[in-house]
Amino acid sequence: MLSFDNTYARLPERFYARVAPTLVSDPRVVRVNRPLAEMLGVSPEALGSTAGASVLAGNDIPPGAEPIALAYAGHQFGEFVPQLGDGRAILLGEVIGTDGRRRDVQLKGAGRTPFSRGGDGRAALGPVLREYLVSEAMAALGVPTTRALAVATTGERVLREAALPGAILARVAASHLRVGTFEFFAARHDREALLALTAHALARHYPGALGTGNDALALLERVIEAQAGLVAGWLGVGFVHGVMNTDNTAISGETLDYGPCAFLDAYDPKTKFSSIDHGGRYAFGNQPRIAQWNMARFAETLLGLIADDEDEAVRLATERLTRFPALFEAAHLRVLRAKLGLVREEPDDRALAQDLLDRLAQHQVDYTSFFRRLCASAVDPSADAEVLALFAEPDAFRTWAETWRRRLARDPIAADARASAMRRANPAFIPRNHRVEEAIEAAVRLGDFGPFHRLADVLARPYDDQPDHANLAAPPGPEQGVYRTFCGT
Ligand code: AMP
Ligand code: MG
Repeated sequence: MLSFDNTYARLPERFYARVAPTLVSDPRVVRVNRPLAEMLGVSPEALGSTAGASVLAGNDIPPGAEPIALAYAGHQFGEFVPQLGDGRAILLGEVIGTDGRRRDVQLKGAGRTPFSRGGDGRAALGPVLREYLVSEAMAALGVPTTRALAVATTGERVLREAALPGAILARVAASHLRVGTFEFFAARHDREALLALTAHALARHYPGALGTGNDALALLERVIEAQAGLVAGWLGVGFVHGVMNTDNTAISGETLDYGPCAFLDAYDPKTKFSSIDHGGRYAFGNQPRIAQWNMARFAETLLGLIADDEDEAVRLATERLTRFPALFEAAHLRVLRAKLGLVREEPDDRALAQDLLDRLAQHQVDYTSFFRRLCASAVDPSADAEVLALFAEPDAFRTWAETWRRRLARDPIAADARASAMRRANPAFIPRNHRVEEAIEAAVRLGDFGPFHRLADVLARPYDDQPDHANLAAPPGPEQGVYRTFCGT
């Protein structure tokens, strides 16, 4: 079974609550993520067995696990909430993988904790399957993310808008440290805790930044870089996180919390899916600005550690924060260049990309299909027909493509090499919302997990053409669009 090596549980008691998962009646494993299990040094067969189901559902605490619920606070839609914490997730402990990396193994939906407030501590099957599909798709797309090790059903019902089957997600993360973890202690003026947390976070996630003489400033710098890169990655694949609260902003730079998230079909920076995001605060195109706002909240928690003199601390932190837009722009431009098949860097590349994005938005062109089809066009202009089919007005593409082709001609790379590089930057498959919903419906209503497994298998190889599964690549038809998503509670 899993071999634990816990460090967070060695931190002071006020960082968490020791709490065991609540027993469930009939644990059954729906899916084990084989490659991830192997990376964690545990046999997928063992996890999929009856004994494995007991562990994955929280009925059996494996040796070395020290179940805890972590304390954290957070800004939710701009408002500070001084105490949130793991209300339904229980950390079993940390495992060092075959790659030498330390990862948290957490059971989400494992029962009530001292942080549950009014909640039941449980998760419904639908949101658990959704997190499995989308987080694993993100990993396969190459965007930093928490992972999904397994899904188990509990045999119990959870009461939401209706009585729904209950499930537990075994989530794996570089850590579950959040901006909100720092906010929890900053709000309590607990300097000692902030020092310990900073040391833990820096050693765990950015060991290369140890020893500068200013741990807090070094951590701030690294987290800002990581978040700028992360959001650029999201924009590259068309991901809308949907609930970029500071309690969902991971210090590791991984995507965390797959509640109301969804991927764009038609490109439009104003796209938002979450039913509770009324103002579009977390809309697709707003994500860089929000990440920077979240980093400002992070910086505030560290001011007392950055310098004894408050003005000096503010000056140093502000200087780091103002780097965010340039860091994001640079990362985003790298992503866009790769999507467009550009090898060299030229000053007009950003404008070329923006001109295209404006056209995609204006003509509501499917983002993923467009870029995937563009890969073939880069080699052979006769493939343009496929791209043009996505536009109601062909000139909208043609006039842009002329500039793009002139630009490609200046790049020293063979057409075939360019096309295959582009196919690694432009996925054929993303977790299309209507397909995710379809897979969830079949599982929740009919107990049919076939569509879920098929979608998970296909999304594990998003950059491969899989002609047998072309229907999973296609955008939704007019009746299939899903425009609203709900928090995974
Ligand atoms: P989220 O919207 O998933 O980021 O959750 C926000 C907060 O609500 C976190 O503290 C969660 O642990 C808590 N929470 C969400 N759902 C539940 C639930 N069913 N039971 C207890 N706490 C929950
Ligand atoms: Mg959350």
